[in-house]
Amino acid sequence: MAKQNLDMRYKRQEMFDITEKELMPFNANGKNYLAYGNVNLSVFVSDYCNASCNFCVAQLRYFHDGVDYIKPVITDEKEYYGKLKVMLDTVKPLDPSVSLTGGEPTLDPKLPMILNILDSYNVRKRTITTNGSGLLKKVKGSNDTILDRLADYKLQHLNISRAHYDEKTNDRIMGLKNPPLSDSELEEIIRISNENNIRPRLSCILIKEGVNSVKEMVKYMDWAESIGIDNVVFRQLMKFDEKTVKPGRIPDFCKSQGVNLIPLWESLDKDERFSFTTQILGYYYYVEVFKYKNIDMVSEMADLTLIEKEKERSLKKTNGVPVIYELVFHPNGNLCGSWREWKEIIT
Ligand code: SF4
Repeated sequence: MAKQNLDMRYKRQEMFDITEKELMPFNANGKNYLAYGNVNLSVFVSDYCNASCNFCVAQLRYFHDGVDYIKPVITDEKEYYGKLKVMLDTVKPLDPSVSLTGGEPTLDPKLPMILNILDSYNVRKRTITTNGSGLLKKVKGSNDTILDRLADYKLQHLNISRAHYDEKTNDRIMGLKNPPLSDSELEEIIRISNENNIRPRLSCILIKEGVNSVKEMVKYMDWAESIGIDNVVFRQLMKFDEKTVKPGRIPDFCKSQGVNLIPLWESLDKDERFSFTTQILGYYYYVEVFKYKNIDMVSEMADLTLIEKEKERSLKKTNGVPVIYELVFHPNGNLCGSWREWKEIIT
């Protein structure tokens, strides 16, 4: 690997400077911002999830701030859709890419209408992150499945969380129930997705009691390829602030189960089965992409403690104009620059 690539691997956010990227002036509610040119809007559909992963990032983001994972919601659906439209009007000048996330977005009855509204705004680069369990469920009052509706929506990227290639081990790690997701259902989802120009991707967390080595990553990718996948992401457990975190099951697990990507990358550099493709430096995450057989293998590490530091740093560089790194639409109707609905409220 070239020296400048290695520098980025080891220095990471030391080399990140948002002001070197395209920043767009943006005004909302009478306040001026600078927004990252390729900004993403995450529509956080619902905090409900039928899995019980001990590494859940949605929850860890709250515990990291020392608070419980309780998200206020708009219970009146019409009011929610109205706020969604107002928000989409607000962000239109930024033309964000749009990701649907949660919790488990495919189990929320609002999802079909949310898709209709997003489509009517002609949103860009359409993605969903899901554990997959609701994709084959029927939409209420229709014969269509949620996956059919995602195909109608012209979804581009379907990210399915799958912690292990072995069905039973995956069940143990993710605790999916009501409904679970069998391997045969997963294969059907991948087949339908590929037939409908949706690119499915499997997302695997690196943990000591699961996929924890290059050998295991290879097994995972060989299995993924055998069921029609050409795109896998391996994630290191997110770092968090151990001084401020609200103690409990998830931080305890993340503290004891971490697998460090750096030595794995160093092994891949010497492994002829892998070729380095590219690297991406984000404001609190760092990604390396490798090619393995026909698989694009993405590998990512992230550190929650870097987020506030980076935002403070950029505020000095922009003479006090806040930078919007990403947008999150929360279930209570708040549009924020943060994954917490009370922080960096834009509208
Ligand atoms: S599937 Fe995703 S949202 Fe649900 S518990 Fe697991 S990590 Fe959290």
